[in-house]
Amino acid sequence: MPGPLRLQGISASAGYAEGPLFRLDRTALHYTVKATAADEKAALEAAIGMATGRLGALIETADSEAAGILEFQIAMLEDDALSGPAFAAIDADQPADAAWRRALDAEIAGYETSDQDYFRARAADLRDIRDQVLRALSEDDESAAPAGAIFYGEDIAPTRFLETDWSSGGGIALKAGSAASHVAMLARSRGVPMVVGLGASPANPVGVALLDAEHGGIVLAPSKAEIEAFRRSSSSFAARRDKAETYLARPAVTKVGTAVRVQVNIADPSDVDGIDIATCDGVGLMRTEFLFGKTLPDEETQYRAYRKVLEWAGEKPVTIRTVDAGGDKPVPGFTVEEGNPFLGLRGIRLSLARPEILRVQIRALLRAGIHGNLKVMFPMIAVADEYARAAALLTEEQTGLAARGVAHKMPPLGIMVEVPSVAIAPEAFADVAFFSIGSNDLTQYVMAAARDNASVAHLNSVRHPAVLRLIASVVAFGRERKIPVSLCGDAGGDPASIPALLEAGLRDLSVAPAQLAMAKAAIADVTV
Ligand code: PEP
Ligand code: MG
Repeated sequence: MPGPLRLQGISASAGYAEGPLFRLDRTALHYTVKATAADEKAALEAAIGMATGRLGALIETADSEAAGILEFQIAMLEDDALSGPAFAAIDADQPADAAWRRALDAEIAGYETSDQDYFRARAADLRDIRDQVLRALSEDDESAAPAGAIFYGEDIAPTRFLETDWSSGGGIALKAGSAASHVAMLARSRGVPMVVGLGASPANPVGVALLDAEHGGIVLAPSKAEIEAFRRSSSSFAARRDKAETYLARPAVTKVGTAVRVQVNIADPSDVDGIDIATCDGVGLMRTEFLFGKTLPDEETQYRAYRKVLEWAGEKPVTIRTVDAGGDKPVPGFTVEEGNPFLGLRGIRLSLARPEILRVQIRALLRAGIHGNLKVMFPMIAVADEYARAAALLTEEQTGLAARGVAHKMPPLGIMVEVPSVAIAPEAFADVAFFSIGSNDLTQYVMAAARDNASVAHLNSVRHPAVLRLIASVVAFGRERKIPVSLCGDAGGDPASIPALLEAGLRDLSVAPAQLAMAKAAIADVTV
């Protein structure tokens, strides 16, 4: 029996899970070869039907974001062009499972090597479809994960996440994956522990594993002592989380009575459905890139999305960020191919390069502004000219709406402080209405350590003195010039980083909704 093995990655959704390892990438499904080609065809047809039915059932309970993905997958499954080659291969005497796998692999390879983002992004959906039909074909429960399992593999398909019953525990441990992925977002909002970036592992790990998604690690084949220590950490985490819940309904204050505003970060208008507005001070960041999913949304779609959030928030502020496409957030049909996307045409740079797309968003924002307390901010600003050009577009669109007699309101305009040039020399921006520190990007650019690369995760720390000093200087500049400064990066919701952020002078944080209670509890422990 080999000894315990500890792998380190990045936490994508905090929590603990102890359970049997379920290998996502195992391919040995048990398929029983049929007597005739006609039987093989019938088996494949039935499996496609089962997979389609399963997707349909998932749509019933999915939010709009997940439903969009699932509907796309159903459309693919129902397309004869996809299944045709597999049926032809069955006619040439192949069993259904091999025929389907080969046909889909060929299709996937075509998507993966495409030079367009849009098609490469669809390869993940095709892999998902391929595996769903293979699972349906295998007709056994071999591929059904046991209750409370820890899913382990390269990456996990969104449908696998959505069809898993997480009520009896379990978690996700990925060799690759990304904390910014769709599944990671779902995991955070549903409280499923998840770690990404674990890297290569020994061949075929099996048995019980301990997933510590608070610190981003997993122990395979644990010893008795490790299991006991793990259970202590796990119950301490559960106790902290339960205790934190008692802070949710109260305004956040430190141990010495300093008030701290805590807002939430959202991405989809439906995110607010599960949040009681009384538990937060508004929306500190609404990311809009996710509205720009498979297609670029029109003005009306955007207007409705923004209006919904503004009406939900009532008098409380809602800060909506113009589209921050590029880098870790490619948008098909909008972002461009480039060698180093984090340093390329992303955020406001791309929006200014494609003003016709930004103008649609601006009109939707100006119109939605009459429905609440809207603020608008621009991402990835590096120089003052970018802010001036973006602000000028708002003025122009406002003039256009006024000329057409369309109701609208000009919101206060602010910027993300996430490019070091702005944090180092904020005086160029003395005329903006507010600053919002994007610690995810600011940290990666200051430390030259990517936000989604586990091998440099130890360098990517907001608590490094260089990052904290910059944050403190931006806060001081804001105080001097009476420009409000908040922070909307993930560090704002991280209990381990909150003391340092408050010591740097911040009194306004915006956090992932799942972190709201923990953040307020952590604030209550700070003595500034
Ligand atoms: C950030 O960079 O900290 C931020 C809030 O923006 P995003 O994570 O969307 O890049
Ligand atoms: Mg950012």
